[in-house]
Amino acid sequence: MYQEPAYERCYDVLVIGAGLAGLFTALIINKMGLQVAIVARGVGAIAVSTGFIDVLKQTPDGRPTDDLAEAFARLHSRFPEHPYAKTGWDKLTAAEDYLLELVQPGGLKYVRPYANANVQVVTALGLLKPTHLLPESAAVAGALQNKRVAVISFKGYSDFNAALVQSNLSQLLPSTQTSWTSMGLPWKKGNEPPGNPRGPAIARWLDDEEGREEFLKCLKEGLPRREAPQIVLLPAVLGLRYHAAVWNMIREALGIEVLEVPTLPPSVPGLRLFNALRTELDSRRMHLNLNGNVIRGSTSTGRVEYVDLASEGKVVRYRAKYFVLAAGGIYGGGLIERDGAVWEPLFNSPLDGECYLNFQEFPFGTGVVVEKDLRVKGFTNLLACGRILGGHNPYSEGCGNGVALATAWMAGATIKGEAVG
Ligand SMILES: Cc1cc2nc3c(=O)[nH]c(=O)nc-3n(C[C@H](O)[C@H](O)[C@H](O)COP(=O)(O)OP(=O)(O)OC[C@H]3O[C@@H](n4cnc5c(N)ncnc54)[C@H](O)[C@@H]3O)c2cc1C
Repeated sequence: MYQEPAYERCYDVLVIGAGLAGLFTALIINKMGLQVAIVARGVGAIAVSTGFIDVLKQTPDGRPTDDLAEAFARLHSRFPEHPYAKTGWDKLTAAEDYLLELVQPGGLKYVRPYANANVQVVTALGLLKPTHLLPESAAVAGALQNKRVAVISFKGYSDFNAALVQSNLSQLLPSTQTSWTSMGLPWKKGNEPPGNPRGPAIARWLDDEEGREEFLKCLKEGLPRREAPQIVLLPAVLGLRYHAAVWNMIREALGIEVLEVPTLPPSVPGLRLFNALRTELDSRRMHLNLNGNVIRGSTSTGRVEYVDLASEGKVVRYRAKYFVLAAGGIYGGGLIERDGAVWEPLFNSPLDGECYLNFQEFPFGTGVVVEKDLRVKGFTNLLACGRILGGHNPYSEGCGNGVALATAWMAGATIKGEAVG
């Protein structure tokens, strides 16, 4: 049933979506001095992702990407609809530089080991995958070579399997001597989380000094005594709010290197990244509504006039000069699928490729069609960025968060070119 808006809000730019693409776009636009707001019905894939910024594992034709700048040039000539063909390598690196700077006030340190190449990191399954930007506590394969490594998991914690990680690593890194242990978590009586402990609950417990001390005591007792390890791999739960303090305290107390391996969702590194961006948004007093569903958009001759947001029982109308659609794919809710058909529900934006699910190219080879400057085809003031874009497959190409960053940067540049001059 149609509900009249309770009131209206007016901005230079409205960003729809609070995943990595939406949050990052809003921070870039705010820096230009424009009034920007973010509306979303939740935090998006960032909270379940590893927090790694994967840039490009392989090009769509399956070719490797040992030289990333060269691979971007190849995309530009061979796959003109790919988001990176529109942004180019320079926008990706500019966006990464800005992210490195942005997360620091939130207590997070990211590193980029190689400017022009990927680095191999250990995954939740103990496999290796290429990424480009990563939390400094992450387990990089190169650091484990020729070392004695102990992989530790916790009894009752089912989102990280040390035996599996150890088994896979021992095959992938034959020069590394690996062992595994499962230790009990010393929850204080009456303080245990209900059911299976999950990553964020353990991380919050470690944020507390008392929890940290108890954990450390158990960890010291649980480490192999014979052939003492030179590196300890732990699930990525070493603190949420005070991650750097927790990580450093444990490394210093053990006197050896301690590295983190991502877990199954929910993902603490993903939440840390979200929190760091949120800290920055809050410090700039930016408008963020994480509890609102954009239910309709009104357009006239290719121009978006307003969108209506249902939030806490009322409808609020948002008007803006520009709208940025960073609403994700099918997982995020930016694209809808029913009976095999896929569409973009807010503006009925044109989609590329198959609008029907193509199970050969799982998961879903479709997305919004945009011009070179990321304006949605047929619209003058609607731009799209992140997972919702067509022309790429974040899973097979290993480029999810990289595309989010580079296209957010590009959307900002397009708006800057017109609105700021
Ligand atoms: C399990 C998992 C693991 C991943 N791991 C990695 C990884 O290791 N490395 C990597 O690079 N990438 C990874 N990714 C991909 C990556 O996290 C995202 O795809 C990428 O960051 C793009 O995010 P996005 O902001 O475009 O969309 P999303 O993160 O999906 O965000 C979409 C946003 O839009 C909002 N929204 C949608 N519709 C509406 C509406 N009508 N009204 C209001 N709000 C709306 C949602 O609430 C959400 O806030 C992973 C993804 C998943 C699902």
